[in-house]
Amino acid sequence: MTRIDTTPTPPEETERFRAYTTAHLDELTARGGLDEVQRLETRAVATVLPFRVNDYVIEELIDWDNVPDDPMYRLTFPQPDMLPAEDVSRMAGLLQQGATRKELNAAANEIRAKLNPHPAGQMTLNKPTDDSEPLDGVQHKYAETVLFFPKQGQTCHAYCTYCFRWAQFVGDPELKIATGDIDRLVHYLQDHPEVTSVLITGGDPMIMKEGVLDRYIEPLLRLEQLESIRIGSKALGYWPQRFLTDDDADDTLRLFERVVAAGKNLAFMAHFSHPTEMATDPLDDAVDRIQNTGAVIRTQAPLIRTINDDPRIWETMWRTQVRAGMVPYYMFVERDTGPQDYFAVPLAQAYEIFTDAYRNVSGLARTVRGPSMSATPGKVCVDGITEVAGEKVFVLSLIQARDPQLVNQPFFAKYDDEAVWLFDLEPALGATHFPYEDTPPSDVSVLLETDTHQDA
Ligand SMILES: *Cc1c(COP(=O)(O)O)cnc(C)c1O
Repeated sequence: MTRIDTTPTPPEETERFRAYTTAHLDELTARGGLDEVQRLETRAVATVLPFRVNDYVIEELIDWDNVPDDPMYRLTFPQPDMLPAEDVSRMAGLLQQGATRKELNAAANEIRAKLNPHPAGQMTLNKPTDDSEPLDGVQHKYAETVLFFPKQGQTCHAYCTYCFRWAQFVGDPELKIATGDIDRLVHYLQDHPEVTSVLITGGDPMIMKEGVLDRYIEPLLRLEQLESIRIGSKALGYWPQRFLTDDDADDTLRLFERVVAAGKNLAFMAHFSHPTEMATDPLDDAVDRIQNTGAVIRTQAPLIRTINDDPRIWETMWRTQVRAGMVPYYMFVERDTGPQDYFAVPLAQAYEIFTDAYRNVSGLARTVRGPSMSATPGKVCVDGITEVAGEKVFVLSLIQARDPQLVNQPFFAKYDDEAVWLFDLEPALGATHFPYEDTPPSDVSVLLETDTHQDA
């Protein structure tokens, strides 16, 4: 017998955003059943790397019976083995002694400095200038796209443990990439008609209230040259209420509509790390509402050891996204910043995971590209592993390049099953250098010689 539920749906609860930080960490890890030593070590790591979660992540996404192995837990909570053991015991010791905030910060800063907070080049190579003054909070690396970091958008609804931009949240404010100056960006764009896309990023731009977001977006709508405005955000995963019940949810959707009405593509670049983030009702509703504005949701995420290093996870994500009308866009290789050793998946394995997932999905999901490394010369994609004239090689190409001539030209590196990043690779088949080492842009050639092919 089918029972029809006739009870009226209760009025929708307006969930208010509430963040948890290190002050709540002990209570939360206790809920996960961690013992006292593990809890202290977790707090020790959290003095060095940023930590922030919210009610939705805690109640809807994390499976507390499965902590510490649960992927959503690992995605948001620091792990004791993310830092070298001696650094963890140093911070744990300071915490136990009741060290002052100042002492803790001094020690934490020393440890952070060892973690490559800004991979070579990010603070210098990609920073554009106007009238010979550097433009803060802007990165212009590829001709057609400019990255913009609004200063009010430099935090997130929750922090990912693998975040390559963790230096945006802790430590030296001088090292932060951010600006409040939209007029300078507009002038810069007018001087650079080749730019057709502005990517607003962070942190997470969706942490900004609609009124602030509007002040950044509205001036861009008058620029005829812009074909698209992109918003890079994890809010769909961590706080879909941003588009449903937050005070400014409706106004935000109207702003999205204005972008579309201005004849531009609003590309909502959603960051989903795991299918669990797409398995809630609020997520479905938020996706519908964003799509109803005419915006297109494209999806991307890095491949992360112990969180999503399984082809079935990617297959599930891409299928779920296509079903909801989202467009799979990039699978990234984890950046060489922060505890990269901890999260790194070797390139050979990344290629196998990508291919295993890719071969099982329909062509509609094969809009995805990867695994891709955002390195100094550009976005380097691992296209294949094969043998040429008896030598086992990686087939690579640049999806995006500082030097546009190099885009989509295959090149080869010696196969190495342990290599995790571009700088681990060597040219193959008798070549003495990689193609991008032939023609470094003249203004950055000195820097390129001294760094190790890593960056934004
Ligand atoms: C990835 C990236 C872009 C955007 O590249 P698309 O291929 O157009 O998505 C722009 N700037 C930087 C620095 C990037 O890393």
